[in-house]
Amino acid sequence: MIKNYDQIVSQLTSLGLKGMTKRLNEALNEAEASKESYISFMQRLIGEELNYRVERRYQRNMVGAHFPVHKDVLTFKFANVKGISEQDVSGLLDFRWVDNHHNVLIFGPPGLGKTHLAIGLGIKAVEKGYVVCFERMTTLIKLLKSVDIQRSSTFRLNRIMKSDLVIIDEIGYTPIEKKEANLFFNLVSEMYEKTSVLITSNKGFQDWAEMMGDPIMTTALLDRLLHHSSIYNLGGDSYRIQNLQEEVK
Ligand code: ADP
Ligand code: MG
Repeated sequence: MIKNYDQIVSQLTSLGLKGMTKRLNEALNEAEASKESYISFMQRLIGEELNYRVERRYQRNMVGAHFPVHKDVLTFKFANVKGISEQDVSGLLDFRWVDNHHNVLIFGPPGLGKTHLAIGLGIKAVEKGYVVCFERMTTLIKLLKSVDIQRSSTFRLNRIMKSDLVIIDEIGYTPIEKKEANLFFNLVSEMYEKTSVLITSNKGFQDWAEMMGDPIMTTALLDRLLHHSSIYNLGGDSYRIQNLQEEVK
């Protein structure tokens, strides 16, 4: 009996069926106790494997997304924020825009929750099974510049290119050189109509040319980003400062 059991475990292991292997002992005991039918036992064990794979994929994708912190889109308070409504966000949560390779651009001054929304939407996308990558603009530029010399950068960029959704946070906080802007433009062009891009920026379009140092390239870049996109211009008071005022009271 034990010999048979060990053999099954080693067979399942060589087939790579880790979910079944993990639950086999328990499932056998349960089946014996409840006199379960063969078919139902088989079904249950295969179900265990499928659940295990979904869970593993979710965990792998969460790690691979590189979210800097955890944010829940459902804890976002809309009361003091102009430019995006609860309906807008629940619309975005159906992720049809990701299926259709459309983009989302969130603009506004610091502290209005742009990064919160970006991470929150990203996490929900991972939960739905999409492959997501999160990068700050400064990190993304470093990646693009080091791709020929650093294998980890090539690895990351490959993941970015294969993602369903790429979140680029904080465009505009630091000016970028013309050469860097060109690398960024090439990336956006390659992703155009293949990968959804969610961008947050504290700078309006009118300031992008100055930030990128090249008006013609900026026009071409915006052309690609804005074609099939939803734009949210956030306004209101910084959440950080509001919180501080609450604490002071
Ligand atoms: P931004 O990216 O626009 O500068 P953040 O997303 O970093 O702003 O927000 C700053 C902090 O305030 C974060 O901890 C975020 O979770 C919180 N925050 C901002 N806006 C909201 C909001 N409307 N509801 C809940 N938390 C918010
Ligand atoms: Mg931010």
